Amino acid sequence: MKVEILGCSGSVMQGYNTTSILLNRETLIDAGSVSSVLSEDAVCTIRHILITHAHIDHIKELPFILDTLFSSSAHGVVIWASRPTLEALTRNVFNGMIWPEIRDLNARKDVITFSEVPPGEFVIGGFRVTGHPVDHIPGSLCYEVSQGGSTVIFSGDTGFDSALFDLALSRGPGLKAFFVDVSFPDRMEKIARLSRHLTPLLLKQGIDGRMDPSTRIIAYHIKPKYLDEVVAELPPNVAYIVGGEVFEF
Ligand SMILES: [Zn+2]
Ligand SMILES: [Zn+2]
Repeated sequence: MKVEILGCSGSVMQGYNTTSILLNRETLIDAGSVSSVLSEDAVCTIRHILITHAHIDHIKELPFILDTLFSSSAHGVVIWASRPTLEALTRNVFNGMIWPEIRDLNARKDVITFSEVPPGEFVIGGFRVTGHPVDHIPGSLCYEVSQGGSTVIFSGDTGFDSALFDLALSRGPGLKAFFVDVSFPDRMEKIARLSRHLTPLLLKQGIDGRMDPSTRIIAYHIKPKYLDEVVAELPPNVAYIVGGEVFEF
Protein backbone atom coordinates (compact mmCIF):
# COMPACT_ATOMS: atom_id res chain seq x y z
CA MET A 1 0.00 0.00 0.00
CA LYS A 2 1.10 3.51 -0.75
CA VAL A 3 1.03 5.83 2.27
CA GLU A 4 1.36 9.58 1.66
CA ILE A 5 1.74 11.83 4.67
CA LEU A 6 -0.05 15.05 3.75
CA GLY A 7 0.37 16.36 7.27
CA CYS A 8 1.02 14.80 10.65
CA SER A 9 1.82 17.54 13.15
CA GLY A 10 0.09 18.05 16.47
CA SER A 11 -0.51 21.70 15.70
CA VAL A 12 -0.38 24.20 12.85
CA MET A 13 2.78 26.24 12.36
CA GLN A 14 4.37 27.58 9.21
CA GLY A 15 5.57 24.52 7.28
CA TYR A 16 3.67 22.06 9.49
CA ASN A 17 0.24 20.67 8.64
CA THR A 18 -2.10 18.68 10.83
CA THR A 19 -2.92 15.04 10.38
CA SER A 20 -4.03 13.64 7.03
CA ILE A 21 -2.68 10.42 5.59
CA LEU A 22 -3.61 9.25 2.11
CA LEU A 23 -3.68 5.53 1.28
CA ASN A 24 -3.56 4.46 -2.38
CA ARG A 25 -4.98 7.89 -3.35
CA GLU A 26 -8.60 6.94 -2.53
CA THR A 27 -8.68 6.43 1.22
CA LEU A 28 -7.85 9.13 3.69
CA ILE A 29 -7.14 8.87 7.40
CA ASP A 30 -8.13 12.15 9.08
CA ALA A 31 -8.82 15.47 7.39
CA GLY A 32 -6.45 17.90 9.07
CA SER A 33 -4.86 19.12 5.84
CA VAL A 34 -6.15 17.95 2.50
CA SER A 35 -7.53 20.73 0.33
CA SER A 36 -4.59 22.95 1.27
CA VAL A 37 -2.09 20.26 0.19
CA LEU A 38 -3.65 18.28 -2.67
CA SER A 39 -4.75 19.39 -6.13
CA GLU A 40 -8.48 19.56 -6.86
CA ASP A 41 -8.20 16.40 -8.98
CA ALA A 42 -6.50 14.55 -6.14
CA VAL A 43 -9.17 15.65 -3.64
CA CYS A 44 -11.84 14.41 -6.05
CA THR A 45 -10.21 10.99 -6.12
CA ILE A 46 -10.89 10.42 -2.40
CA ARG A 47 -13.75 8.01 -1.74
CA HIS A 48 -13.40 7.10 1.91
CA ILE A 49 -12.36 9.22 4.89
CA LEU A 50 -11.59 7.48 8.16
CA ILE A 51 -11.71 9.95 11.04
CA THR A 52 -9.87 8.94 14.23
CA HIS A 53 -11.62 11.45 16.51
CA ALA A 54 -13.31 14.84 16.51
CA HIS A 55 -10.47 17.14 17.57
CA ILE A 56 -10.14 20.10 15.23
CA ASP A 57 -6.63 19.19 13.99
CA HIS A 58 -8.11 15.98 12.53
CA ILE A 59 -11.27 17.38 10.94
CA LYS A 60 -10.63 21.01 10.06
CA GLU A 61 -10.50 20.56 6.27
CA LEU A 62 -13.45 18.19 6.05
CA PRO A 63 -15.84 21.05 5.08
CA PHE A 64 -13.52 22.11 2.27
CA ILE A 65 -13.07 18.58 0.92
CA LEU A 66 -16.85 18.34 0.66
CA ASP A 67 -16.96 21.77 -0.96
CA THR A 68 -14.52 20.60 -3.64
CA LEU A 69 -16.52 17.43 -4.25
CA PHE A 70 -19.75 19.41 -4.67
CA SER A 71 -18.31 21.79 -7.20
CA SER A 72 -16.95 18.97 -9.33
CA SER A 73 -18.73 16.09 -10.98
CA ALA A 74 -17.03 13.69 -8.64
CA HIS A 75 -18.48 10.61 -7.01
CA GLY A 76 -19.58 10.59 -3.40
CA VAL A 77 -17.48 10.15 -0.31
CA VAL A 78 -18.07 8.07 2.80
CA ILE A 79 -16.97 9.50 6.12
CA TRP A 80 -16.24 6.73 8.62
CA ALA A 81 -15.95 7.34 12.36
CA SER A 82 -17.22 6.14 15.69
CA ARG A 83 -20.72 7.14 16.72
CA PRO A 84 -19.53 9.82 19.23
CA THR A 85 -17.31 11.36 16.54
CA LEU A 86 -20.12 11.41 13.94
CA GLU A 87 -22.44 12.96 16.51
CA ALA A 88 -19.84 15.62 17.35
CA LEU A 89 -19.42 16.46 13.65
CA THR A 90 -23.18 16.74 13.16
CA ARG A 91 -23.75 18.77 16.32
CA ASN A 92 -20.74 21.07 16.21
CA VAL A 93 -19.62 21.46 12.59
CA PHE A 94 -22.33 20.47 10.09
CA ASN A 95 -25.05 22.17 12.11
CA GLY A 96 -26.25 24.94 9.79
CA MET A 97 -24.23 27.52 11.71
CA ILE A 98 -20.56 26.61 11.41
CA TRP A 99 -21.18 24.85 8.06
CA PRO A 100 -24.34 23.64 6.31
CA GLU A 101 -26.08 20.53 7.59
CA ILE A 102 -25.25 17.31 5.75
CA ARG A 103 -28.89 16.99 4.71
CA ASP A 104 -28.67 20.39 2.99
CA LEU A 105 -25.28 19.61 1.48
CA ASN A 106 -26.82 16.49 -0.02
CA ALA A 107 -29.93 18.29 -1.29
CA ARG A 108 -28.68 18.80 -4.83
CA LYS A 109 -26.94 15.45 -5.17
CA ASP A 110 -26.07 12.69 -2.74
CA VAL A 111 -22.40 13.22 -2.13
CA ILE A 112 -21.78 12.55 1.54
CA THR A 113 -22.52 9.50 3.63
CA PHE A 114 -21.76 9.35 7.33
CA SER A 115 -21.08 5.76 8.31
CA GLU A 116 -20.38 4.40 11.77
CA VAL A 117 -17.28 2.21 11.96
CA PRO A 118 -18.65 -1.29 12.61
CA PRO A 119 -17.16 -3.58 15.22
CA GLY A 120 -14.54 -5.90 13.74
CA GLU A 121 -13.06 -5.84 10.27
CA PHE A 122 -14.69 -4.14 7.28
CA VAL A 123 -13.53 -3.66 3.69
CA ILE A 124 -13.13 -0.32 1.88
CA GLY A 125 -11.00 0.79 -1.04
CA GLY A 126 -9.32 -2.62 -1.30
CA PHE A 127 -8.25 -2.53 2.36
CA ARG A 128 -9.31 -4.57 5.33
CA VAL A 129 -9.83 -2.02 8.09
CA THR A 130 -10.48 -2.36 11.81
CA GLY A 131 -11.11 0.54 14.16
CA HIS A 132 -9.89 -0.12 17.69
CA PRO A 133 -10.79 2.19 20.60
CA VAL A 134 -7.86 4.11 22.10
CA ASP A 135 -7.50 6.24 25.21
CA HIS A 136 -7.85 9.87 24.08
CA ILE A 137 -11.32 11.48 23.97
CA PRO A 138 -14.62 9.55 23.83
CA GLY A 139 -15.01 7.77 20.51
CA SER A 140 -11.31 7.86 19.59
CA LEU A 141 -10.18 5.08 17.29
CA CYS A 142 -6.91 3.85 15.93
CA TYR A 143 -7.07 2.20 12.52
CA GLU A 144 -5.48 -1.09 11.55
CA VAL A 145 -5.27 -1.29 7.77
CA SER A 146 -4.27 -4.40 5.81
CA GLN A 147 -3.74 -5.12 2.14
CA GLY A 148 -2.13 -8.29 0.79
CA GLY A 149 0.31 -9.41 3.46
CA SER A 150 0.97 -5.92 4.82
CA THR A 151 -0.63 -4.45 7.90
CA VAL A 152 -0.10 -0.90 9.16
CA ILE A 153 -1.49 0.64 12.35
CA PHE A 154 -2.20 4.36 12.71
CA SER A 155 -2.67 5.08 16.39
CA GLY A 156 -4.57 8.35 16.01
CA ASP A 157 -4.11 10.47 19.11
CA THR A 158 -3.61 8.30 22.14
CA GLY A 159 -2.40 8.30 25.69
CA PHE A 160 -0.60 5.35 27.26
CA ASP A 161 -2.93 2.56 26.16
CA SER A 162 -1.79 -0.98 26.97
CA ALA A 163 -4.40 -2.44 24.60
CA LEU A 164 -2.90 -0.48 21.69
CA PHE A 165 0.62 -1.66 22.45
CA ASP A 166 -0.58 -5.25 22.91
CA LEU A 167 -2.39 -5.01 19.57
CA ALA A 168 0.73 -3.81 17.77
CA LEU A 169 2.93 -6.41 19.46
CA SER A 170 0.49 -9.22 18.70
CA ARG A 171 0.72 -8.65 14.94
CA GLY A 172 4.37 -9.81 14.80
CA PRO A 173 6.29 -9.41 11.54
CA GLY A 174 3.05 -8.92 9.54
CA LEU A 175 2.92 -5.43 11.01
CA LYS A 176 4.98 -3.39 8.57
CA ALA A 177 4.59 -0.06 10.34
CA PHE A 178 3.25 1.33 13.59
CA PHE A 179 2.53 5.05 13.26
CA VAL A 180 2.18 6.31 16.80
CA ASP A 181 1.36 9.64 18.48
CA VAL A 182 4.35 11.18 20.26
CA SER A 183 3.21 14.75 20.88
CA PHE A 184 5.34 16.06 23.73
CA PRO A 185 8.93 15.80 25.05
CA ASP A 186 9.61 13.80 28.22
CA ARG A 187 9.72 16.90 30.45
CA MET A 188 6.05 17.50 29.62
CA GLU A 189 4.85 14.04 30.65
CA LYS A 190 2.29 15.51 33.05
CA ILE A 191 0.66 17.53 30.25
CA ALA A 192 0.92 14.56 27.91
CA ARG A 193 -0.88 12.34 30.42
CA LEU A 194 -3.55 14.99 31.09
CA SER A 195 -4.24 15.52 27.39
CA ARG A 196 -3.82 11.80 26.62
CA HIS A 197 -0.82 11.83 24.35
CA LEU A 198 2.53 10.04 24.45
CA THR A 199 6.10 11.17 25.06
CA PRO A 200 9.22 9.32 23.83
CA LEU A 201 9.63 7.72 27.27
CA LEU A 202 6.00 6.58 27.45
CA LEU A 203 6.32 5.08 23.96
CA LYS A 204 9.50 3.28 25.01
CA GLN A 205 7.74 1.89 28.07
CA GLY A 206 4.79 0.79 25.94
CA ILE A 207 6.75 -1.12 23.34
CA ASP A 208 9.29 -2.22 25.95
CA GLY A 209 11.67 -3.74 23.41
CA ARG A 210 9.04 -6.32 22.45
CA MET A 211 8.14 -5.07 18.97
CA ASP A 212 9.18 -7.34 16.10
CA PRO A 213 12.45 -5.87 14.73
CA SER A 214 11.03 -5.81 11.19
CA THR A 215 8.20 -3.43 12.18
CA ARG A 216 8.95 0.20 11.49
CA ILE A 217 7.94 2.33 14.45
CA ILE A 218 7.19 5.86 13.27
CA ALA A 219 6.41 8.72 15.63
CA TYR A 220 3.94 11.32 14.40
CA HIS A 221 1.69 14.09 15.66
CA ILE A 222 4.74 15.80 17.19
CA LYS A 223 3.97 19.37 18.30
CA PRO A 224 6.16 21.49 15.96
CA LYS A 225 7.23 23.69 18.86
CA TYR A 226 8.85 20.69 20.57
CA LEU A 227 10.05 18.83 17.46
CA ASP A 228 13.80 19.02 18.20
CA GLU A 229 13.35 17.91 21.79
CA VAL A 230 11.09 14.99 20.91
CA VAL A 231 13.36 13.81 18.10
CA ALA A 232 16.41 13.89 20.40
CA GLU A 233 14.58 11.74 22.96
CA LEU A 234 13.13 9.10 20.62
CA PRO A 235 14.54 5.59 21.08
CA PRO A 236 17.03 4.68 18.30
CA ASN A 237 14.63 2.20 16.68
CA VAL A 238 11.90 4.85 16.32
CA ALA A 239 11.74 7.06 13.20
CA TYR A 240 9.67 10.23 12.92
CA ILE A 241 7.78 12.11 10.24
CA VAL A 242 6.80 15.75 9.81
CA GLY A 243 4.68 15.59 6.63
CA GLY A 244 5.50 15.12 2.94
CA GLU A 245 6.88 11.59 3.31
CA VAL A 246 5.71 8.74 1.07
CA PHE A 247 5.93 5.06 2.05
CA GLU A 248 5.25 1.82 0.23
CA PHE A 249 4.38 -1.16 2.43
ZN1 LIG B 1 -4.45 15.66 17.29
ZN1 LIG C 1 -6.79 14.71 19.73
